[in-house]
Amino acid sequence: MLQANADDSEIAKFSALAHRWWDPESEFRPLHEINPLRLEWIDLHCALPGKKTIDIGCGGGILAESMALRGANVTGIDLSDKALAVARLHLLESGASVEYLKIAAEAIAQERPTRYDVVTCMEMLEHVPDPASTVRACAQLAKPGGSVFFSTINRNVKAYLMAIVGAEYVLNLLPRGTHEYTKFIKPAELSGFARAAGLDTVELIGMHYNPIDKRYSLGRGTDVNYLMRCTKSS
Ligand code: SAH
Repeated sequence: MLQANADDSEIAKFSALAHRWWDPESEFRPLHEINPLRLEWIDLHCALPGKKTIDIGCGGGILAESMALRGANVTGIDLSDKALAVARLHLLESGASVEYLKIAAEAIAQERPTRYDVVTCMEMLEHVPDPASTVRACAQLAKPGGSVFFSTINRNVKAYLMAIVGAEYVLNLLPRGTHEYTKFIKPAELSGFARAAGLDTVELIGMHYNPIDKRYSLGRGTDVNYLMRCTKSS
């Protein structure tokens, strides 16, 4: 049995709030608001319909379910029983079909290597003790030529001010204690983990929040939140 690359207090934090996962006014509001942007971006680059897709750290299933509704064949994994229970329950409401499993990324990568066209791992790497290990698992799950998408938060003074002070203390977008500065990951570090795992980084794009109109957008500037698209060499 592999030692899980997981921080129990992180899993507990998400479990405690899980019943509110699908409430768009809850602590999970930012995930609801960014979801259409990331879904379009993923679909644009890999044409989701019919694709075997796995979402690592799927939580209550906001992204996983939306990819399934686009026609992808989706598996979602997480280590929070409560988040997975909420995700499964929501399928009854949406009519979507997703395979939700409680398993670590490293363990499913051993069970199902090179099985997926698309691997997504969003807003999760900054919550694990060893993100390089999660990136390796994502790479292992992808088929040769497959796409792997990550999103996380950069580590610098601006990211600290915006993602922790701004989002958790000033604007109250997220509960205090959601993020820990030292776990943030610079894009160069993430693409280094990716390269070491056999992935090529093909796109790096920023995600921005405008506190005036309260809208998110994708674009230049990866100082705070960013997404990275990688491909696995065929
Ligand atoms: N990816 C989803 C949820 C992000 S919240 C989205 O973007 O909508 C972060 C999720 O990562 C939580 O559901 C939490 O339980 C999960 N998580 C944290 N550490 C994990 C680990 N080591 N293995 C699997 N899931 C983990």
